[in-house]
Amino acid sequence: STQEKTPQICVVGSGPAGFYTAQHLLKHPQAHVDIYEKQPVPFGLVRFGVAPDHPEVKTAHSGRCAFWGNVEVGRDVTVPELQEAYHAVVLSYGAEDHRALEIPGEELPGVCSARAFVGWYNGLPENQELEPDLSCDTAVILGQGNVALDVARILLTPPEHLERTDITKAALGVLRQSRVKTVWLVGRRGPLQVAFTIKELREMIQLPGARPILDPVDFLGLQDKIKEVPRPRKRLTELLLRTATEKPGPAEAARQASASRAWGLRFFRSPQQVLPSPDGRRAAGVRLAVTRLEGVDEATRAVPTGDMEDLPCGLVLSSIGYKSRPVDPSVPFDSKLGVIPNVEGRVMDVPGLYCSGWVKRGPTGVIATTMTDSFLTGQMLLQDLKAGLLPSGPRPGYAAIQALLSSRGVRPVSFSDWEKLDAEEVARGQGTGKPREKLVDPQEMLRLLGH
Ligand code: FAD
Repeated sequence: STQEKTPQICVVGSGPAGFYTAQHLLKHPQAHVDIYEKQPVPFGLVRFGVAPDHPEVKTAHSGRCAFWGNVEVGRDVTVPELQEAYHAVVLSYGAEDHRALEIPGEELPGVCSARAFVGWYNGLPENQELEPDLSCDTAVILGQGNVALDVARILLTPPEHLERTDITKAALGVLRQSRVKTVWLVGRRGPLQVAFTIKELREMIQLPGARPILDPVDFLGLQDKIKEVPRPRKRLTELLLRTATEKPGPAEAARQASASRAWGLRFFRSPQQVLPSPDGRRAAGVRLAVTRLEGVDEATRAVPTGDMEDLPCGLVLSSIGYKSRPVDPSVPFDSKLGVIPNVEGRVMDVPGLYCSGWVKRGPTGVIATTMTDSFLTGQMLLQDLKAGLLPSGPRPGYAAIQALLSSRGVRPVSFSDWEKLDAEEVARGQGTGKPREKLVDPQEMLRLLGH
């Protein structure tokens, strides 16, 4: 059939999930793939999430794959319109919300989501107005995952070490004025349940000018339990345990003694309330319920002991997870799990519709995890194509969508447009030794392109 000859497929979202899915689909020798992205620039969290001191390399180039930025699916074009124009549609639009704490005081100035903070230092347009107030000496991060460690590291890294990264000029300016000396990372459970990985922990332990604060009491009895845990968790816990309980050698002791900044893990604490300052205008601390663990292994839960503790601070960052949004009323969405219900990437009950990445399996895992699951979705789609399960007959693909977008006054940004923006960013970074100075204003980007 014609469909077998030139399958027209589109992918929504240009983060790792979108690009890796497209890469797999292009194994089909005739497939044409269009990637729609709401930002004028590609790469999703690789550009706007991954910390500036963790650079990663990424591009996809093929004559059969096109990038169309500045197109928000659900607003500029609907999913049913895409389904009309293509043989198959893959939703890879990530997880753009944050999970709320749902505790009193959360709305006070001085409280923000780690998601917004990360977007701010990485140049995500919608977070450029954040202006976090770093005039306090203590910040509290609620959460103990890699994002929490990224945020702690950026807050405590000597600014001169960030000068040669692609962190935005504005964020670097604010960080230079920062008075934050201590960062606490608070978790409801214990050292065996932390959600960060060993590489990120090691970076924290070795952070120049900062020393770790760990309470050996939190680690009592852990030496025995460690033997039973699987290997990656075991190595991570051993590193935590050593840092908490072993006396450092002379060089490390001297380094720690001269450190002007500190970070610590506060275990067995569940946030109950953000405490206001006396005038009620700002956050001044967090009230924590002391917890203990019940249950074993995966089912381990933190239950309150009845004791409370107040932790004073001037900045509260909630880092308890990202969350996907529904994109279009026509697409099934599990609002409890925050994912599109699917079986191996096939959206339940909607033939021809697929999903990959964080919107498929929830907001956990690194880029490599996202790659594996995106390849799997690509594989399922190609299987369905081969089995004749997708609509037969030709589909117009981008030609139809372009007409719709143009009638709605939307001007897409192509991959070669992006290459111009990319060159501009690199040029702006040159004088200062940065790999690039990111453009952060979509209007300016479109102006530079003559749109
Ligand atoms: P995303 O990367 O979020 O991509 C989704 C894309 O869809 C975005 O470009 C978005 O703009 C677009 N989009 C959203 N809605 C629409 C719409 N309606 N229409 C069109 N487009 C839309 N992994 C690592 O391996 N190393 C790290 O150092 C690392 N650091 C991280 C730091 C942070 C703060 C975070 C949050 C994650 C980090 N990760 C890291 C994990 C990694 O970023 C994710 O695994 C991966 O980005 C998920 O890919 P995705 O494509 O599903 O989502």
